Amino acid sequence: MKRYFSFGGGVQSTAAMVLAAQGEIDYKTFLFADTGDEHPETYEYIENVHKPFMEKHGMELRVLERVSKDGETRSIREEIEHEPNLIPLPVRLTVPRTGKHRAPPLTRNCTGHWKIRVLEKHIREEGATMHDPVMMGLGISYDEIQRMSDSKRRYQINDFPLIDGKITRDECRRIVKDAGLPSAPRSACFYCPFHNNDYWLRLRRKRPDLFEEVVELEREMSKRTLEKLGAPCTFKIRGKMENLPDQQSLFEDGPDTCETAHCFV
Ligand code: SF4
Repeated sequence: MKRYFSFGGGVQSTAAMVLAAQGEIDYKTFLFADTGDEHPETYEYIENVHKPFMEKHGMELRVLERVSKDGETRSIREEIEHEPNLIPLPVRLTVPRTGKHRAPPLTRNCTGHWKIRVLEKHIREEGATMHDPVMMGLGISYDEIQRMSDSKRRYQINDFPLIDGKITRDECRRIVKDAGLPSAPRSACFYCPFHNNDYWLRLRRKRPDLFEEVVELEREMSKRTLEKLGAPCTFKIRGKMENLPDQQSLFEDGPDTCETAHCFV
């Protein structure tokens, strides 16, 4: 059975890469579905750490991009610019609160279109069928066991080597450090609404240019949700990006996760 690892470029994926090089888990081919909008630190880490490490240890990193129906490859943001009605991000409509419940995020079509389907298309091209399925390793750590799920495709069997080894996110960091590698940045699109307040404060402090792009993107998404769905939206649970307070909130914002298991790993 062919074996691939769904590589997010973050802490857990980097630990899995190290464990594979040490022979602790059986993966040689790592598939990175690139949204085109990761934080620049992730791209730098991939170029300077992941690629040389994999090459040295006889492993392969395949960078895959979504190809649109018109044959073009566009990042999520480029597709948003290209398609004036598109609302692919898990933004939150600012509907009035009812009791303790707040509006849940909209469906994250971004993960489905730029990650899951890109990986599925690739393994189908590689020959995966329901009679000859492939094994897909996912970098979910033991402390995030609730993110485990079976594959919805009969040509793919999901595997969770970090959970099998009871390896937590903290242990992933230790594995990376013990291998002599710098700590891996958290992987996700730099504007992902699932980031928490701590991340937004850091982004505004260290990369005001990117933060300004987030503010603009939120404005654009809000305009579209108002037109299409009747309510503006925000990226954070509370308040707009342009009103981000200077202090970390007592109430943590954002679940900081993605239960489809293809982001933040
Ligand atoms: S990181 Fe966030 S914005 Fe990017 S694909 Fe995943 S859920 Fe969507």
